[in-house]
Amino acid sequence: MARSVSFFSFIFLISALLALLYRFGFSRLFSVVLSATTLIIIYLLFHPRNQWLVANRSRVSGAGCVALTFDDGPDPVDTPRLLDLLREKGVKATFFIVGKRAERHPEIVRRAWAEGHLVANHTWSHYSLFCFLTPRRLRAEIERGTESVRRSCGVRPRLFRSPVGLRHPLLAPYLEDAGLEYISWTIRTRDTLTSNSSVLARRMLKAVSGDIILLHDHLPGGTDAMLDVLPHVIDELRERGFQFVLAGPREDAGGTLQPAACEYAP
Ligand SMILES: [Zn+2]
Repeated sequence: MARSVSFFSFIFLISALLALLYRFGFSRLFSVVLSATTLIIIYLLFHPRNQWLVANRSRVSGAGCVALTFDDGPDPVDTPRLLDLLREKGVKATFFIVGKRAERHPEIVRRAWAEGHLVANHTWSHYSLFCFLTPRRLRAEIERGTESVRRSCGVRPRLFRSPVGLRHPLLAPYLEDAGLEYISWTIRTRDTLTSNSSVLARRMLKAVSGDIILLHDHLPGGTDAMLDVLPHVIDELRERGFQFVLAGPREDAGGTLQPAACEYAP
């Protein structure tokens, strides 16, 4: 909460300073302060790994461990294909789930949890201007995301990741209220921008101990490139001595595997 207050105080003081500079005709200084402030705000809201507005974890512990994380699902076609692949390879991964997609495909979320993966909150609707949400809508995005996963598989998620890693000035206190830990990444494969399998493989194979790798199991153009190359990447990383771990513990998540589909969905 202290950081949220500092952020808003910073905006207020800078605005007052800019008004004074403008009022007294310091136009060059006005431009410099305005540009610097804009850059600082862009960094705080848009840089996925900045620690200032919300403390976030971008690594896993344990020597030789890496974590595969998949955002934006469940997808009715690609997520089951991915789950088949992971089962075949004996790899456990972490799924950052979009709440309203989970409402449509709860059986896929249930399957992911049942097969030993971790399910996490990736907001309710994946709103692309996440950093500009009103406080009320921000809270709803977090709470409905959690509730949707819980209704799907009986597990209350403990991890959270925002759309595109965007920050919001009120994210830290709201996540604390919701009992969620913010998780970012160290390797961004940019699978949203390329469908070239070898480029994806090269990016994943840069992994070093502790890396969290960001991938997607739902993309507008499909995830064929990732699904094609993932078996090879898994084999190669294993050969180098890596083991695949979840981005957080499953033990404290509890969970019943009982869907709560009969409950009222708001
Ligand atoms: Zn996303």
